[in-house]
Amino acid sequence: MEIPYCVFGVIDERIDNFTPPPDAGDSQPFGEFKSEFRNIPIYRLKKKVDFCSECLCNKYCSGFFKNDILKFGLGDLRPITNS
Ligand code: SF4
Repeated sequence: MEIPYCVFGVIDERIDNFTPPPDAGDSQPFGEFKSEFRNIPIYRLKKKVDFCSECLCNKYCSGFFKNDILKFGLGDLRPITNS
């Protein structure tokens, strides 16, 4: 869960990266970790990158955690263009 298909390089039903981040409920932090979304802390925010538009998963994949992209970059990751 929560790992984009392109990290594995395959589309596989065992990968679940389409479920939205879970409602953090009471664990929503205060202060600097609180996002503009009511129940999603900033470290759970996701984003797409430019090459996602070329990916076969783009319509149902929820993308990368922003934190991961900021911390590790994209490395050699590529969109999935064949199934
Ligand atoms: S839509 Fe983007 S994040 Fe999702 S698998 Fe494709 S390239 Fe990776």
